[in-house]
Amino acid sequence: MDNYDKHAEVLNTLVYTLNSGVKGSIELSKSQLEEWEECYKSNKRFVIESGKYVFGLNPNLVADFKCLRAQSIETSSVHIIQTHIEEAEKELEEDPLISFKIVCKCSATYLTPSRKSRRKSNCKYCQSPVFVDYSSGIIETHYGNGLLMTNTKYVDKNAARPEGYDDLKRTYSGSRREEIRV
Ligand SMILES: [Zn+2]
Repeated sequence: MDNYDKHAEVLNTLVYTLNSGVKGSIELSKSQLEEWEECYKSNKRFVIESGKYVFGLNPNLVADFKCLRAQSIETSSVHIIQTHIEEAEKELEEDPLISFKIVCKCSATYLTPSRKSRRKSNCKYCQSPVFVDYSSGIIETHYGNGLLMTNTKYVDKNAARPEGYDDLKRTYSGSRREEIRV
């Protein structure tokens, strides 16, 4: 059966985490995996065709990745991949992407989606670290309520979560696929 052939050549599962905290996974053949490793080392964009879709990943935006090699997943690979996707989705639900307003000493001010639990990020313009400022409370942004990250003032890392934190829901919609496409 077709399915059997398809699974027989399966495939390593690349599980990656973007700098934004979003996780994703994709099946890769051995040569595709080697290509990815090359791209990662040399900071080249990685583009492959996988099944019915074309997949692109920018190594610059990948915080870390790991690979489950084919030997260990041969027979139940599809199930395992499914589990990874479910885990990633569950995690997204528990720690949704919300809107963060970044205010940096380099004068950059912008909005970016990030995991709600995130305490620290880097300014996308100057790479300086910015820290979540719970003392500013919940702030309104163009994309809904969110949190502030800044480095223009001292931020107490031990500050309690602001009132309304628990009500912060995912403010970035769209499918997971769209979110991980970079
Ligand atoms: Zn900056």
